[in-house]
Amino acid sequence: MKRRFKIQDRFTNMKKADGTPMSRQQIHMLRKRARGLCWICSKPALEGGYFCLEHQIQARERMRKKLGCRRRNLGATSYKLKKEEAEARSKRQAAQAKRANSKAAKAKSAQSKSKVSVTKAKAKTAKTKPAKTKTQAKAKTPTRKKAKTLPRTTRRAMARN
Ligand SMILES: [Zn+2]
Repeated sequence: MKRRFKIQDRFTNMKKADGTPMSRQQIHMLRKRARGLCWICSKPALEGGYFCLEHQIQARERMRKKLGCRRRNLGATSYKLKKEEAEARSKRQAAQAKRANSKAAKAKSAQSKSKVSVTKAKAKTAKTKPAKTKTQAKAKTPTRKKAKTLPRTTRRAMARN
């Protein structure tokens, strides 16, 4: 069995201002604060803060609700960072979309090229190719129907296996 030892640092056996022992949870929070981690999720905290961005926003909204605030300081760090994050995300998404579009365009151009070559070579082959795909599609659908209309006993046996 693995032995677990009590952490020994400046927070062990810490006492509150009134002399009573500090709770295990409170000491855990103080350790996180000393390491510069978010108190809630242990991600790196914002500079000079106690929480990560997500939990900083949660704390902000909680206090706003409690204090009944109406005005918003939109230049504050939590708003700024959230905005930056959103912008970065939108940029990333735009870049991804661009990449996807370019890929699709390439594929389309390749397809059109092949089609052109086929039509140039022989019209007959072009006609036969779609016919093949149609037969494949036809072949696929009946098998599905068969699976659905199997007798109950066999279906049960399949379920057991
Ligand atoms: Zn957090």
